Amino acid sequence: MNTNLMQSVKILKGIGDETAELLADMNIVTIKDLLEHFPYRYEDYRLRDLADVKHEERITVEGKVHSEPSLARFGKNKSRMTVRLLVGRYLVQAIIFNQPYLRSKIKISETVTVTGKWDQHRMAITVSEMHFGENRAGKMFEPVYTLRGSLTMKNMRKYIAQAFELYGNELEETLPQGLIAKYRLPNRGEALKIMHFPDTPEDVKKARRRFVYEEFLAFQLKMQALRKLEREQSPGIVQQYDLAKLKAFIEALPFPLTGAQKRVVNEILSDLKSPYRMNRLLQGDVGSGKTVVAAIGLYATVTGGRQGALMVPTEILAEQHAASLKELFDPYGVRCELLTSSIKGKARKEILADLAAGEIDILIGTHALIQEEVAFHRLGFVITDEQHRFGVEQRRVLREKGENPDVLFMTATPIPRTLAITVFGEMDVSIIDEMPAGRKTIETYWARQDMLDRVLAFMEKELRKGRQAYVICPLIEESDKLDVQNAIDVHASLVHFFQDRFKAGLMHGRLHSSEKEEVMRSFAANEIQVLVSTTVVEVGVNVPNATVMVIYDAERFGLAQLHQLRGRVGRGSDQSYCILLAEPKSEVGKERMKIMTETNDGFVVSEKDLELRGPGDFFGKKQSGIPEFKVADMVHDYRALETAREDAAKLVQSRAFWESPEYANLREGLIEAGLLKGEKLD
Ligand code: ADP
Ligand code: MG
Repeated sequence: MNTNLMQSVKILKGIGDETAELLADMNIVTIKDLLEHFPYRYEDYRLRDLADVKHEERITVEGKVHSEPSLARFGKNKSRMTVRLLVGRYLVQAIIFNQPYLRSKIKISETVTVTGKWDQHRMAITVSEMHFGENRAGKMFEPVYTLRGSLTMKNMRKYIAQAFELYGNELEETLPQGLIAKYRLPNRGEALKIMHFPDTPEDVKKARRRFVYEEFLAFQLKMQALRKLEREQSPGIVQQYDLAKLKAFIEALPFPLTGAQKRVVNEILSDLKSPYRMNRLLQGDVGSGKTVVAAIGLYATVTGGRQGALMVPTEILAEQHAASLKELFDPYGVRCELLTSSIKGKARKEILADLAAGEIDILIGTHALIQEEVAFHRLGFVITDEQHRFGVEQRRVLREKGENPDVLFMTATPIPRTLAITVFGEMDVSIIDEMPAGRKTIETYWARQDMLDRVLAFMEKELRKGRQAYVICPLIEESDKLDVQNAIDVHASLVHFFQDRFKAGLMHGRLHSSEKEEVMRSFAANEIQVLVSTTVVEVGVNVPNATVMVIYDAERFGLAQLHQLRGRVGRGSDQSYCILLAEPKSEVGKERMKIMTETNDGFVVSEKDLELRGPGDFFGKKQSGIPEFKVADMVHDYRALETAREDAAKLVQSRAFWESPEYANLREGLIEAGLLKGEKLD
């Protein structure tokens, strides 16, 4: 590592202790850090033609003053000045906040240049900079940096210019020549210089390409190296399943598998047979038929003489799965058992003993399955359904118990491919992207709160046909913080509305699990026709007779969650409906409701959601595991991400990558991440 670049920023003129501290706050300590402090946007002072600009764009235009400025003062030291400018053939309103002293400088018929945000509807510009006369002094295209405290843009630019002058030519290349040539990328020093001192947006675009690729490649290398390590360090089980039995089992299913299901079954089987441990994510939209794929995989393991486990997030779901798998496997002499925390005493002891003795083939339950006192005889395959929560920690638990089973994660939350290969980069991904034939699409409508009467009338009409309905609310109880409908109130009002014509039940997370079960059971048995609930019904629940899903305050839910909720209906042969009651305030909010009404495809929903919300919000900040990139943007640069992933996968498989000096800088990143030991120099 070049030592000049590792010097403190304090060697630069103008940077004392105080400034150094502010910079350190932004993780800028060395000259190298400073050189790599990328602008987050650029100010483009080149004059624009109003005919080509977009709403809310930041623009610079030149115009002639067309009216006396009018000034309004308000509050303490606050003011708003407006003045009309003739820009080309347009008459534009310039709005200037808190700079009353400019009034005397603005003279009718004189030329001014203004920079600011354009409001297309009002034909107005909110001015952030104003210059008098035709030519603005200085560069036409300038970088804008994040700042802290008393740091100014002017100084930041100066520090960076100084650092470049002194040490810019010492910046090292990090990418191997082969890749640089392949993608015709500028070298690192050159590209960095352009990022800081560009002449045009086109320059920036070229330089940016390089850093996007560099960041993605470094990240994907870590993922791919991790995957390689995991494979090498935890050898899997070669499972010799019985293909003839498996074929007979699939043959006997009440329906033919879809093409996508067949493909995924094959991917799973080849993992089971391979000496590597399976670490696979299976994505498939609600209703795409993941359960039967899981069943086939579990059966394969059993025919190979091992046990399987199916883990689900809730007890209700565990019971549903246990019941349907028992029925499915009964004719084959495969023993399935349910284990949840409500199974206690003698029954529990028996299950645990039989499991340890290898007399139970498939165990179904919540994720307590693999913890607690549960010991398998020969565990071969673990499937987790509908959750991302089963992670590194649980896999460690399994390893420590001496089990090294193949693991398959199933999720009905379609994750856009870009995110999937980022967040789950070290996993293999299978996708069921085809629905079983004959599925009716769910009709989705967006209604305003004042249309509630019509919505209720519609529900009543469906209920009279003998169908059932879900009504979902965001919260359990009234909260003075949030003005949202709550399940308890909504339940009360629906009980009142339907009188004794139909029964409405109430379900929420604060009920005891036995109470929840009872409500679910009576809904499934059609003893209650309307189920008012919080989102606890979100996952997996299957009541085919329910054809209406009404969601209150739908704007409060994520799109993926709305899609999940919608998936609770449309499970039978009747036409189903989803009604979103929502009063979104923002354009984005309205756009989200529209997306829901326009598509039934979970992947489309999630791609759009990602575009609207950005990757950080997509999973919720806390557990996102999404790395922060300085330059790259996973959503907009997804092609580069895919390319980098392919390159990284090839690299980690090549010998040159691990040995040749050409790749030393890339290996450095792996050493930092603890995935590779550094060479010792003693
Ligand atoms: P999910 O992927 O949401 O878990 P399920 O596995 O619950 O979906 O399947 C939804 C329904 O579709 C079930 O009733 C299942 O029996 C049925 N199903 C699954 N695969 C097929 C298929 N290939 N053809 C017809 N119906 C299928
Ligand atoms: Mg399922």
